[in-house]
Amino acid sequence: MAVMKTDLIVIGGGIMGLWAALYAARAGLEVLLVEHATIGAGASGGLLGALMPHTPDRWNDKKQFQFDALVSLEHEIRKMEAETGLSAGYRRTGRLIPLAKPHLREIALRQVGDAAINWRTADGGFAWRVLNAAPDGLFASDAGLQGAVFDELAARVSPRGLLQLLTAVLGNMPGVIIREGCAARDIDPRQARVVLADGTIVHAGHIALSAGVDSFPFIDGLTASAGGEARLRSGTGVKGQAARLAVDLDPATPILYSDGVYVIAHDTGGVAIGSTSEVEYDDAFSTDQRLDDLLVKAERLVPALAGAPVIECWAGLRPKAIGRDPMAGPHPDFSRLHILTGGFKISFGIAHRLAAAVVAGISAHTSGRDEAIELPLSFRCETHLALLQS
Ligand SMILES: Cc1cc2nc3c(=O)[nH]c(=O)nc-3n(C[C@H](O)[C@H](O)[C@H](O)COP(=O)(O)OP(=O)(O)OC[C@H]3O[C@@H](n4cnc5c(N)ncnc54)[C@H](O)[C@@H]3O)c2cc1C
Repeated sequence: MAVMKTDLIVIGGGIMGLWAALYAARAGLEVLLVEHATIGAGASGGLLGALMPHTPDRWNDKKQFQFDALVSLEHEIRKMEAETGLSAGYRRTGRLIPLAKPHLREIALRQVGDAAINWRTADGGFAWRVLNAAPDGLFASDAGLQGAVFDELAARVSPRGLLQLLTAVLGNMPGVIIREGCAARDIDPRQARVVLADGTIVHAGHIALSAGVDSFPFIDGLTASAGGEARLRSGTGVKGQAARLAVDLDPATPILYSDGVYVIAHDTGGVAIGSTSEVEYDDAFSTDQRLDDLLVKAERLVPALAGAPVIECWAGLRPKAIGRDPMAGPHPDFSRLHILTGGFKISFGIAHRLAAAVVAGISAHTSGRDEAIELPLSFRCETHLALLQS
């Protein structure tokens, strides 16, 4: 029976796990990342990559956390791109939202002032502009009768490009091991010990559980073993379907968004269309009529998509935690077990800041120094787990 030692074992090679491994390696920790299948085999290996801010009104700590994350992500990506020569397909394109009804225009106009206050940075900031008309030819003529919002903060990234970039950077860092085709089978959070599917026992200083939707059964099992009642589940998977079409749309085109439909032109060609949102499904990973219906809706919104050949269809499960917000930070009963999941629809914009917070918590635990990065209360693991008992 093989035995390994490491400072941190990261379980799951999606966007959360890769950022956790990167921050940990930067902090000088030895890292073993185990991935059940291949990097990006879960929800992170999709097509869309929208980095969409919350609206700038009714500001709170979680909107501030996401704003700071969306602002800092570009710098993080540019640094890694310069190091490797690879591209993550990142571009701050902004987002256009057609306004179909007068009351939506009134709300949007009020949000202009909110953005001026809340979307400020040291270099200026980002505007939420209300246009009298959407730029010519982008939307169907009846889509934006009351004009459109142009939000300057939104951006997009190639999900697979970013995963490849992170993997490449990690591959060059000392003390990092990535094992694909290697699942964690059992977690002993008290000893920070993990048994892998091949029987290898890993003694770790800390565990980061970033297994996407598969994190929740682990968490539920631990809650039950700590004497809690596992009446509710700590989270679920919400299925999403998306497609990539062969359309010649300028990659500088803003994200086009209306009523749950995203149309996103990518640098490498092709336009991603997303997404369905399904709580009930038979097969999490197949595409069906719901995707066809979504494509019809997208064509109605953006006539340039009409008749475009489909290059790829894709489906995955978004991890949604019981409290609906991301779930991050140390488990309240096991200080060496750190959770990183539940990013639901916004993981790509915030995963690096969540990972930074988790790794700062580990460093603080190890060094005794208070290096913690504050997470919004509704993100914290203990807040979610308290809902299990309610
Ligand atoms: C159709 C669709 C469109 C989306 N669009 C966007 C978008 O535009 N913008 C955005 O920000 N988000 C979007 N999302 C959500 C986003 O993709 C997810 O929130 C995010 O990818 C979750 O990342 P993760 O690292 O938590 O989980 P995952 O990417 O699922 O990674 C978890 C990994 O853990 C591995 N694993 C599981 N069990 C084990 C185990 N026991 N041992 C080892 N490894 C294990 C899995 O194989 C997997 O690779 C979309 C999701 C879908 C489905």
